[in-house]
Amino acid sequence: MNQCKAFNRFASVICVLTLTAIGFSGCIRTRANINNESSPVVPAADTTSVVKASIPLPASLKVADAKTILERKQVPVLCYHQIRDWKETDSKTARPYIVPVAQFKAQMKALADSGYTAILPDELYAYLATGLPVPEKAVMLSFDDGDADQVTNGLPELNKYGFKGVFFIMTVSMGRSIYMTKEQIKSLSDAGHTIGSHTWDHKNVKKFEAADWVTQIEKPSKQLEEITGKPIQYFAYPFGLWKPEVIEPLKERGMIAAFQLAIARDEQQPLHTIRRIIVPGTWNGEQLIKNMKASF
Ligand SMILES: [Zn+2]
Repeated sequence: MNQCKAFNRFASVICVLTLTAIGFSGCIRTRANINNESSPVVPAADTTSVVKASIPLPASLKVADAKTILERKQVPVLCYHQIRDWKETDSKTARPYIVPVAQFKAQMKALADSGYTAILPDELYAYLATGLPVPEKAVMLSFDDGDADQVTNGLPELNKYGFKGVFFIMTVSMGRSIYMTKEQIKSLSDAGHTIGSHTWDHKNVKKFEAADWVTQIEKPSKQLEEITGKPIQYFAYPFGLWKPEVIEPLKERGMIAAFQLAIARDEQQPLHTIRRIIVPGTWNGEQLIKNMKASF
């Protein structure tokens, strides 16, 4: 663990991004069908070069090849959206993305009672890329879109157990009604949580045109970097959707790992197709542990 912590400090200090200007407004929030999309056949690509450039690892910690990474035991990564009680107006299709507060409490308690340690993307990355150890019962908690209830309802439960998580922010919505303010995002970052990117307005990366790389990736990263004072290196695909062709451009823009949903990882790019499961509001603590073990 000491080795792990030392590496994380090293990594956070050294990373550099080269990005441009700032974000703006206008919002879309739709959510596609989640886990069913099959991944296309994949072209060969060099998994390691850009990763090495972003984090110059000590010579003894070489980034492993894709096959080695795929062979490591997966760490369960949980994906949350809204944490609040259901309203009558919440549709049947919306409810999987809304975890009632009591259920979230039960889920976090079950993780703690079962001996799980919540690790952060830096630790997960170091484990997958270089084999640095993680606790035997490690889990990663991830929160998408930047809903304010993740802070108001979710954070107190994380704090109860000393859990940290990663918050993937859709920057267009910062400061708007139900979303986090910049101050809340900074405060999460200052408290040791990780801030990641979830694009500007939740555009499906499979539909990116040239200008989207600036609007959806470069500017949001720049803005989040200015808020947190830290590099933005982790990305969550909107709707969990991706295609192999977007991975190199993401790496070029500083993303050392990216998170999808539950389909199989890309055989050449496992660090940019890390699996997550959406935790529905219908699971109690016991069901969470059971389903988590089954999926990972
Ligand atoms: Zn999202």
